[in-house]
Amino acid sequence: MKNNGRLKQLIAEQLKPLVRKIDCEAYYARDFLLSLGREGFFQTEGLTIQEILSREVQVVEEIAKTCMTTAFNLWCHLAALTYIRNSDNNYLKTEILPGLQSGELLGATGLSNPMKYYAGLETLHLKAEKADGGYYLSGVLPSVSNLGASHWFGVIAEINGHQRVMALVPGNAEGLKLKEKLEYLGVNGSATFSCAFNQVFISEKFIIAENADAFVAKIRPVFVLYQIPLGLGVTEASIKSIEKVCNKQGGCNKYLPIQPIELLAELQTLREAIFNLTSLTDIQNKWRELIQIRLDIALLTSKAVHACMLHQGGAGYLQNSDPSRRLREAYFLINLTPTIKHLGKMLVENTNVSASN
Ligand SMILES: Cc1cc2nc3c(=O)[nH]c(=O)nc-3n(C[C@H](O)[C@H](O)[C@H](O)COP(=O)(O)OP(=O)(O)OC[C@H]3O[C@@H](n4cnc5c(N)ncnc54)[C@H](O)[C@@H]3O)c2cc1C
Repeated sequence: MKNNGRLKQLIAEQLKPLVRKIDCEAYYARDFLLSLGREGFFQTEGLTIQEILSREVQVVEEIAKTCMTTAFNLWCHLAALTYIRNSDNNYLKTEILPGLQSGELLGATGLSNPMKYYAGLETLHLKAEKADGGYYLSGVLPSVSNLGASHWFGVIAEINGHQRVMALVPGNAEGLKLKEKLEYLGVNGSATFSCAFNQVFISEKFIIAENADAFVAKIRPVFVLYQIPLGLGVTEASIKSIEKVCNKQGGCNKYLPIQPIELLAELQTLREAIFNLTSLTDIQNKWRELIQIRLDIALLTSKAVHACMLHQGGAGYLQNSDPSRRLREAYFLINLTPTIKHLGKMLVENTNVSASN
C-alpha cells in the first residue's frame, strides 16, 4: 500500500502510546481516527474500487495489530463511508462525504439489528413514519459505536411490512437520546452508546436509500469485508507475541498444542483469500466466500489469542497485559454482527446476496 510507512509512523506515534488508556480507561482515540482522514487514507479520487477496498482493508489490519478497539472504530467509520459512497443521494455525497473522507467528521453504523432482521434472526427495532419532507423515527438501538454528538450514523427503519428506509442520522438530532455504555469486557474505548429515538425527524436530505432492502444487498459484502482485517491484525500480533517467548523456560513452550507456525499458515491462507477478493470487480457476487472467510477469521483469531495466553503464561495473565487485552477484544469480534451463530445460519441456509433472504 502507498503510504504504508506513514501509516506505521502515525500508529507508532499517535496510537501506540494510548493503547493502555483505551483499554483501561475507555479512552476513545477520536483524534487518531480524524488524523487518518487528514492524511488522505479515505480519499477516493483517481482510485478504482479495488484500490480503495484493498487500501482500506490494509489500514484496518495495520491498526488492529496495535489496537483492535480503534480498528473497530475505524470499521464503523468505513461502514458509514460505504453507505454514502453507494447511495444515489447527491446531497450526502457532496455535503457530508467530503468531511467524512478528509478527517473533519466521523461516521458510525447501527446496522446490526437490520443485518439480523435480513437473516431472519430479529424484527426491526426502528419504525419510520412518513412526514412532510422526511420521516419520524422511533425505537431503540442497544449499541452503536464510534458515536458522539458531532458524528453521523446509518440506520434502517421499517415503514410498513413491505418497505424499509435507510437514513444517515446526526448524533445531535432532536429526540435522540444517547447513553454511553462502559461495562463491557473489552472495547470500552469504542465510544459505544445506546440510542433511543423518540420521533426523531429525518429530512429527505439524509435518506441514504428509500428501498433499504435492495440497498443492503449492495453494501453488505463490503460491510463484512472490512471486518475481516480486524482478525488478521489481532492474529498477527498474537503470533508475534508468542514468538517473543519461544525460548523462555528452556523452550518448553514447544510442548503446547498450538504453535505459531500453524497459526501463521492459517493466517496467510485467509489473508491471500481476502486480498484476492478485493481485487475482483464483482465482490457483490462473492457473498458466500466472504461469510466463510469472516467465520474462519473469527475462529482463527479466537485460537490465536487463546494460544498466546498459554505461551505467555503468568505475564499474559496480568489484567492489563497485551495478550489479555487481545483475548477480551477477540471475544467482541466473535460477538460482532454477523456473529458466529449468525454466520453459521447464513452458511447452512446458503444465503445468497439477496437482502430478502
Ligand atoms: C461493545 C459493542 C459494540 C457494538 N457496536 C455496535 C455498532 O456500532 N453498531 C451496531 O449496529 N451494533 C453494535 N453492537 C451489536 C453487535 O454487533 C452484536 O449485534 C451484539 O454484540 C451481539 O448480538 P447477538 O446477536 O448476540 O444479540 P444479543 O446482544 O444477545 O441481543 C439479543 C437481542 O437483545 C437486544 N439487546 C441486546 N442488548 C440489549 C440491551 N442492553 N437493551 C435492549 N436490548 C438489547 C438485541 O438488540 C437483540 O434483539 C455492539 C455490541 C457491543 C457488545
